[in-house]
Amino acid sequence: MSKQLDHPRGAAIVIGASMAGLCAARALANHFQTVTIFERDALPNSPADRRGVPQGRHFHGLLIAGQRRLESWFPGFTDELIAGGAVPISLTRDGHFYMNGGTRIRFDSDLKMPACSRSLLEYYVRERVRDLRGVILRADTSVADLTSTEDGRRITGVRLGNGISYRADFVVDASGRGARSLRWLAPLGYEAPPTDNVTIDVGYATRVIRPPPGETRDWRFAMVSADPPTRLCALYPMERGRWVVTLAGYHGDHPPTDDAGYLAFAKSLPSSVVADLLTRSEPLGPVVGYRFLSSQLRHFTRATRLPHGLVVLGDGICSLNPVYGQGMTSATLQAEALDATLEQTAGLDEQLARAFYRRAAKSVVPLWQMATGGDLTLPGTAGPTPFLIAAVRRMANWYMQRLMRAGSVSATVSQRMLEVLHLVSPPSALLSPGMIYRALGGQP
Ligand SMILES: Cc1cc2nc3c(=O)[nH]c(=O)nc-3n(C[C@H](O)[C@H](O)[C@H](O)COP(=O)(O)OP(=O)(O)OC[C@H]3O[C@@H](n4cnc5c(N)ncnc54)[C@H](O)[C@@H]3O)c2cc1C
Repeated sequence: MSKQLDHPRGAAIVIGASMAGLCAARALANHFQTVTIFERDALPNSPADRRGVPQGRHFHGLLIAGQRRLESWFPGFTDELIAGGAVPISLTRDGHFYMNGGTRIRFDSDLKMPACSRSLLEYYVRERVRDLRGVILRADTSVADLTSTEDGRRITGVRLGNGISYRADFVVDASGRGARSLRWLAPLGYEAPPTDNVTIDVGYATRVIRPPPGETRDWRFAMVSADPPTRLCALYPMERGRWVVTLAGYHGDHPPTDDAGYLAFAKSLPSSVVADLLTRSEPLGPVVGYRFLSSQLRHFTRATRLPHGLVVLGDGICSLNPVYGQGMTSATLQAEALDATLEQTAGLDEQLARAFYRRAAKSVVPLWQMATGGDLTLPGTAGPTPFLIAAVRRMANWYMQRLMRAGSVSATVSQRMLEVLHLVSPPSALLSPGMIYRALGGQP
């Protein structure tokens, strides 16, 4: 995304100013004279949770691939985030990783990320987007409908909740998992695309804490998971000396939100570090819960008919089990796909929408396979599982289990797995002869 306004195309509108809407606006700013983002929520002038993003109160990790994209769009972004309070951590040196019945080897590497609250991250992205030439951010402004040509073939803009209409050459619906444009398109004769759901019924419960002052420990963040991984915890530092503790459970085994139940769930985890820190720390608020029923993928590439001048982007295309921490990175990849499509396609018609969805699918389908592939091997997960695919998945899962065990003692395996999880190496990197040798019990 290096170009700025070489081929200005008129006016674009984005619905929603969460991570996907902001990333979309960054892409559109390369191609349109004006980009207006309409966001239903009031947008605070400092990092703060907000109603339209209730998931923002829970642990949010940005994968390294997403972080690198943000850095390339907004040079100096990572340093800015750290200056704003994010805590730089080494993924391989600083973590207490307890999984598959043991802790992982720790070592130095270049796999680093700034740990912070979701609201801090979103705030800094928002401020950078606000500074872009041609971008206008309209908070407290709900979009109520789309406007279209009489025959319904072309989307011509949006109608706001107050009845005022705004014209645009191109509209991006980044309103989240519900993809509100689908509801508005139905009366115009457009059917929703075929959709896959993988039901996991994951529950989150999160508390922000302040550990005792002056306390030292030999780790700076913790990831703990039962075996099989149906109960988990992420324990991370954030800005202003606070830590976020997110507990998660699959298939209805949700962590409670009352104090006693929350602590009991933490105590049930196979490493005691979570419950230990919880008991010694000051709680900075109540425990908040969130229920995530299913991962969802909309196959826009298979839609029979699409309007000219509109695409959906973000969770509206693919909404993934949050324990894999992929959603915000998925938004950056989709925005990159939009930028490349606008660069290479002249019109703003159905063909452009199809070209975008094809390109976006190349980025999101591997994420979908990664997230649902693991989940579908857990008893209790419901989703589409043709026999052959299920057999391949079982084999892949067996191999991944072996690799994970090898990764407890082998820095090479551990680093490669993290690189694949953080989307900086392709999954094929796990199939090199060296990896297979180590997975089958060879020397670390
Ligand atoms: C519990 C949980 C934990 C998660 N943890 C992680 C994580 O660790 N790492 C990660 O990368 N991802 C994580 N995610 C996913 C991540 O939150 C999303 O993928 C990310 O926010 C991108 O979503 P989005 O922008 O498409 O939609 P959303 O974040 O849902 O935002 C939609 C926006 O549209 C606005 N809006 C809706 N309707 C209208 C309207 N009519 N008019 C105007 N504005 C409207 C909303 O107010 C909101 O701002 C998690 C998700 C959940 C549920």
